[in-house]
Amino acid sequence: MSYIEPAPIKDKENPLESMMQRFDKAVEILGISEEMYHILKVPRKQVIVGLPVMMDSGQIRTFEGYRVIHSTILGPSKGGIRFDPDVNLDEVRALAAWMTWKCAVVDIPYGGAKGGVACNPREMSAGEIERLMRAYTTALLDVFGPDQDIPAPDMGTGPREMAWLMDEYSKSKGMTVPAVVTGKPLVLGGSLGRTEATGRGVMVSALAGMEKLRINPYRATAAVQGFGNVGSHAATLLRDRGVAIHAISDISGAYYNDKGIDIAAAVAYRDANKGSLEGFSGAELIPGDDLLTLPVDVLVPAAKEDVITRKNVSGIQAKMIVEGANGPTSSKADDIINEKGIMVVPDILANAGGVTVSYFEWVQNRIGYKWTLERINRRTDRIMKDSFDKVYEVSQKHKVSLRIAAYIVAIDKVSSTYKFRGGF
Ligand code: NAD
Repeated sequence: MSYIEPAPIKDKENPLESMMQRFDKAVEILGISEEMYHILKVPRKQVIVGLPVMMDSGQIRTFEGYRVIHSTILGPSKGGIRFDPDVNLDEVRALAAWMTWKCAVVDIPYGGAKGGVACNPREMSAGEIERLMRAYTTALLDVFGPDQDIPAPDMGTGPREMAWLMDEYSKSKGMTVPAVVTGKPLVLGGSLGRTEATGRGVMVSALAGMEKLRINPYRATAAVQGFGNVGSHAATLLRDRGVAIHAISDISGAYYNDKGIDIAAAVAYRDANKGSLEGFSGAELIPGDDLLTLPVDVLVPAAKEDVITRKNVSGIQAKMIVEGANGPTSSKADDIINEKGIMVVPDILANAGGVTVSYFEWVQNRIGYKWTLERINRRTDRIMKDSFDKVYEVSQKHKVSLRIAAYIVAIDKVSSTYKFRGGF
């Protein structure tokens, strides 16, 4: 293929380049036409906006904001808004494509998008962030919409910012439009179950993988890197299903106990300790990176990107890796993992529980009716399990890893939709 996506340029291998390499591998196996390859790679819309904002000092500072719609062929586009100093158009463009594949692999009727503003929210007051979010929303009023493009939180933004976006958008329309954004506070139409949804999807994927590998959860052990939203809920839910969690970690280090960690006690300790596990006494403190190479059945990287690389992959002893984080495994580590026979449930499948419940939030907003937590969990579990089974079947058919199979499922769905619709 001749087209080269101007992917983010960085000196080390980054997760977005890794994604593009896997995309190319899947495309080769699927054998799609060169025309389709170009259609899938080039985003539908890329918007750059200048955002003058009054700072608390009285000075006006102008920020640069982006929104990239990668695809809307399956439905309105969906993707978070990132407030971070490193945000740039290339990164947003690659993350938007990532969302297209993630939604397609779990068969949610959404396309992919991403947005961001180059800013440092840690150095801004709440008032400055609010004015920035309102300015960003106003600048993108023509782009956003419940049937067009539905944002959500990402790095540096949360329910508070989504509430401001919803308010600004609603004022412009003269009516309350909750379905324009997901990840809202519960009182504004947020969904039950959203907080734990990604960890829940990780748990469902892990159990589905264990079943294929004939690992009995009640005899299984796991290590979970990262004890934030995804990691702590994944650990809690796996523990509830019988898995002994031998190690957990956060930025303060890793905590190891070969009798199994009391996860409820670790969560309570973290919540009472400003969000940190530092000083947790229910386990032995070990160096953070040692967690990745412990002799456990299941390894759940749920902290950050690029933690399993060519440098440490040979030491991994787990039988399966379930990627809670986005891009925790570099593409250069893939071949060694495959040679070692380790099953990897890839990020675009394993952590899709979050976008699934965001979709449920949008559905509930549109029908004007709140579902119970029990209904949300049941439907999330079904979507995650069905998606795993589909990806597993494709991996068997093409004799490829679950990762490449997930890309095949996603790319096949999007490209065949194009073919059926006919109009480009
Ligand atoms: P979070 O900020 O709640 O938690 C991150 C955790 O990782 C914290 O405990 C932090 O201390 C720990 N950590 C950071 N660096 C570490 C390191 N080097 N070693 C060990 N621990 C480290 O974030 P989160 O929402 O749980 O997200 C985690 C990952 O999952 C990210 O890659 C994110 O993009 C991805 N993800 C999150 C969601 C979601 O719904 N929250 C959905 C999909 C993907």
